[in-house]
Amino acid sequence: MNHLQRLRTRQQYFVTLNRGNEIDPNKVIRTISYDHPVYTKEGIAAQFRHPEISGPSHTHYCGAYWGWGFHEDGVVSAERVCNAIAGEVVSRFVPAPARKSLETTEDEVAA
Ligand SMILES: Cc1cc2nc3c(=O)[nH]c(=O)nc-3n(C[C@H](O)[C@H](O)[C@H](O)COP(=O)(O)OP(=O)(O)OC[C@H]3O[C@@H](n4cnc5c(N)ncnc54)[C@H](O)[C@@H]3O)c2cc1C
Repeated sequence: MNHLQRLRTRQQYFVTLNRGNEIDPNKVIRTISYDHPVYTKEGIAAQFRHPEISGPSHTHYCGAYWGWGFHEDGVVSAERVCNAIAGEVVSRFVPAPARKSLETTEDEVAA
């Protein structure tokens, strides 16, 4: 943590998710309980249905939980949402004669 958080301390600090029983309890500063998503076949199948809820009504869903819950999954998810929003913005600025309305239609969202 010293390197990651740029701590200017002589003491070295560590965060671990594993082997807690092997750590001297006197050296534990804090124990925090976390929940982690449990990935099931149904859950993974649901991840493929992201476009069904993300985008319609201009509401987007983003988070590492759309992948395996790691940092890079969060980045991929954010990029996907950014691209979708950029697509919406671009589609709204198509010159007027090319479209009947400046609003994104349900068909366009579904596409
Ligand atoms: C101890 C620990 C160590 C980790 N180490 C690693 C690692 O080494 N490598 C790695 O790749 N990943 C690691 N992870 C996982 C990584 O932290 C997550 O993948 C990442 O933080 C998820 O980012 P996120 O933006 O999807 O969600 P989050 O970071 O959880 O962000 C969600 C945000 O939404 C806010 N929020 C929640 N509900 C609401 C609401 N109703 N209204 C408004 N705001 C709300 C929360 O306060 C939070 O700020 C670690 C996680 C933990 C807990």
